[in-house]
Amino acid sequence: SKHSELEELDKKHYLHPTTIPKTHAEQGPKLTFAEGEGIYVRDVNGEKYIDGLSMLWNVNLGHGQQELADVAKEQMSKLAFSSSFAGYSNEPAVRLAEKLASLAPGDLNSVFYTSGGSESNDTAFKLSRFYWTLKGKSEKTKIIGIKQAYHGVTIAAQTATSIPLFHDFSGSKISEVFHANPHLTNCERGDKSDPNYEGCIRDIVEKEGADTIAAVIIEPVQGSGGVHVPPEGYLEAVRDLCDEFGILFIADEVICGFGRTGTMFGVENWGVVPDLMSVAKGISSGYSQLGGVLIKESIRDVLVQYDQVLAHGFTYSGHPTACAVALKNIEILERDQIVANTKNMEYELRAGFEYLQDKHPTFTKSRAVGLLAGFELYADRDSGKPFDSTILPSAEVVEECFKRKLILRALSSNVGRNIVAIAPPLIINKQQIDDMINILDDSITVFEKKFC
Ligand code: PLP
Repeated sequence: SKHSELEELDKKHYLHPTTIPKTHAEQGPKLTFAEGEGIYVRDVNGEKYIDGLSMLWNVNLGHGQQELADVAKEQMSKLAFSSSFAGYSNEPAVRLAEKLASLAPGDLNSVFYTSGGSESNDTAFKLSRFYWTLKGKSEKTKIIGIKQAYHGVTIAAQTATSIPLFHDFSGSKISEVFHANPHLTNCERGDKSDPNYEGCIRDIVEKEGADTIAAVIIEPVQGSGGVHVPPEGYLEAVRDLCDEFGILFIADEVICGFGRTGTMFGVENWGVVPDLMSVAKGISSGYSQLGGVLIKESIRDVLVQYDQVLAHGFTYSGHPTACAVALKNIEILERDQIVANTKNMEYELRAGFEYLQDKHPTFTKSRAVGLLAGFELYADRDSGKPFDSTILPSAEVVEECFKRKLILRALSSNVGRNIVAIAPPLIINKQQIDDMINILDDSITVFEKKFC
């Protein structure tokens, strides 16, 4: 069959991301995707699945969106690619830049384009350092991230990423990145009597010296690290801290941006305006490979003050086809009121979580900000006792869901692999949320029979 032929070729020639090459070479892919429509995808055998994670948290408008396909074809036929270097520009890149400026919070009014999230974060670090150098503070180079963060895999982004699997891979790191304990609102507000003070961002700033620190980078809602929602006041406290010490605040909106959290950008949930904002993924719903860094006016003002080359850029910075697709993607988000739908579906999902919580003694700590959601599984949820370390609860449940044709993702917490992440396309409706909850219900039932 076509499937087995593809599988053999795949095993032999295709080295996959975040996969054990040995296992892949022996077993091949679990699934080979072929087509999709809305929240559904089909594999090469015609089996239909619910895409409960929007693939990699990015296909916000869902699959098979013809208007995005059409605009890509139109732009490719007209001018697929143009340089954006040294004096050249193109219309889709300019129109999108203006659109992003109008959407972004505060005065984040200019954009530097990339092809994805890792490139965006590396760019944000380099722009931060460039900015401080122009301001005569070239010793401000250090970056502070928070623990369990995921910021991508290019070497600087990988270093800012704190999840050990990625952070440590191949020993590739830059120096001068620090990871703070996350979500310590009181400590970030300066409460030194708090027993957790050591290791908070403020503590690191005080120890290293603010005059050595370029920027703090934070995902408004931490995605791959476990779908962790910041407590009230936390992002505001970090914003204040950055202002107090003269440190740039980079928001990594790669997952949160473009409606995912029920607002256009994640930071809007807390009324915080960062200095730089990394975007990718949902900017094009994954239909084109695009990212960018949004930059506030006062930083741009400094860049345009000096006769200094911004010696940074990718061949595909400002790719006209990618930008045309993103522009259409944003137009549809607004026209079809997808952000409002996301908020409404958050409530449906929360209702489903309440039902699961009532029914299943292992189910707890559910959270949803828009359609960025998750829950955790414990042997005893009241005491917080995890399952025995030989059991991978979320992997078990995710596998049961997979058997029932729902694709989700298992993530790890500090007590093991016990978090299930849920982030369906933002076009999802109530019936489809119910379908996901029913599959989760059956899957957790099987899991509990097996392990409780
Ligand atoms: N930042 C965040 C928050 C992400 O979730 C990701 C990818 O999952 C990245 C950055 C890296 O983006 P990319 O894989 O497009 O390089």
